[in-house]
Amino acid sequence: MLTTVPRGTKDILPNEVTTWLYVENILRKVCQSFGYQEIRTPIFEHTELFKRGIGDATDVVEKEMYTFLDRGERSITLRPENTAGVVRSFVENKLYADLQVQKLFYIGSMFRYDRPQAGRYREFHQFGIEALGSSAASLDAECILLAVTVLQKLGLKDLQLKINSVGCSNCRPQYRAKLQEFFKEKKDELCEDCQSRLERNPMRILDCKNLHCNELVKDAPVLTECLCDECRDHFTNVQHFLDSVGIKYEIDHNLVRGLDYYTKTAFEVQYPPLGAQSAVAGGGRYDGLVEQIGGPATPGIGFAMGLERIILALEKQNLLSQNLKFTDVFCVCNNSDNFPKMFKIVNELRNKGLSVEFDYSLGSIKSQMKKANKFQAKKTLIFGDDEMTRECVILRNMQTGEQKEIAIENIFNEL
Ligand code: AMP
Repeated sequence: MLTTVPRGTKDILPNEVTTWLYVENILRKVCQSFGYQEIRTPIFEHTELFKRGIGDATDVVEKEMYTFLDRGERSITLRPENTAGVVRSFVENKLYADLQVQKLFYIGSMFRYDRPQAGRYREFHQFGIEALGSSAASLDAECILLAVTVLQKLGLKDLQLKINSVGCSNCRPQYRAKLQEFFKEKKDELCEDCQSRLERNPMRILDCKNLHCNELVKDAPVLTECLCDECRDHFTNVQHFLDSVGIKYEIDHNLVRGLDYYTKTAFEVQYPPLGAQSAVAGGGRYDGLVEQIGGPATPGIGFAMGLERIILALEKQNLLSQNLKFTDVFCVCNNSDNFPKMFKIVNELRNKGLSVEFDYSLGSIKSQMKKANKFQAKKTLIFGDDEMTRECVILRNMQTGEQKEIAIENIFNEL
């Protein structure tokens, strides 16, 4: 074999595509009922967009981007996420002129150069939404509710919703200073990454995966205790809306998005049985991002959901029925003179929406009937010599074994 798929990527094979379509169909239906419209943006963008739109100090931008110079010496990056791309499109196409809130969703491939493992790939797929144009707490709650609704419609159980508020440019600087103060004395105990985060982005220490950093974080000052009045009210209101629809959540003080344009609500949905890669969806408010990307000040919120992890969760909970390929009719013929006539009828039946198969090489009747069984055909049509002289065929019900002669002109009605 010449080569295999690149590390961290996968083929989605025909029997799996049925599952993907099933999941995508549910996502689209939920989005439609919440008034979100699909947007499709390029798979690659100018590198600058992600540096600004995700942030230089994040792992994704520092270590995980697929970046290359194209033939015109421009630095291009395969999108590692899609908020930046959607916001770029929103600004470039002036979508903000349209409605009170621009509500968009996307489904597509993302690329991150990371060590592959179960639930973590270099090419993976995200479903996500972005709602631009309102800073109302009801929009935050709607965004979280949309994620939860999708997961509920898929039948998933045992999910955990975690929420937090990361404050705003008024209250966060004081908190950052407090955090720096707290970790300064413990700097030597922090992992190498966190030591560099301490200066640039101390809030990222809170969600470091290193066990010892985790221990140190337990006594760190809590951001929700430092929120300004506006952020505190907003957070309380989001909780009221979630309570009103009966959604259960846990407040997790260490759930952060450490960049300046992330504001207020942050949330994550986890499915613990997936182990180390248990986050199935994550999102939050980003009231400063549109401006950061060069648009007019516009508040926004969104989330992204990893589809591979959703499918892993569906498999773990046995929620995927065996997707069998089914065939309505298998056409059988024992005489090559009749083959073109059968071919024509196959075509007519397919045009009427039936799924129809036949034996391309016209084997013996016995082997054709075997194939009909393999295709799990519900019915067979046998184009026998005798019957054909009378403009008839035999219709056999494969479940009951019953068969009868029918006129060719009545085939569709009889089926
Ligand atoms: P993030 O953009 O990092 O907040 O990720 C949002 C969601 O995308 C996560 O909750 C995961 O479900 C999924 N995800 C992120 N990175 C990967 C990856 N490398 N492989 C598979 N899924 C991923």
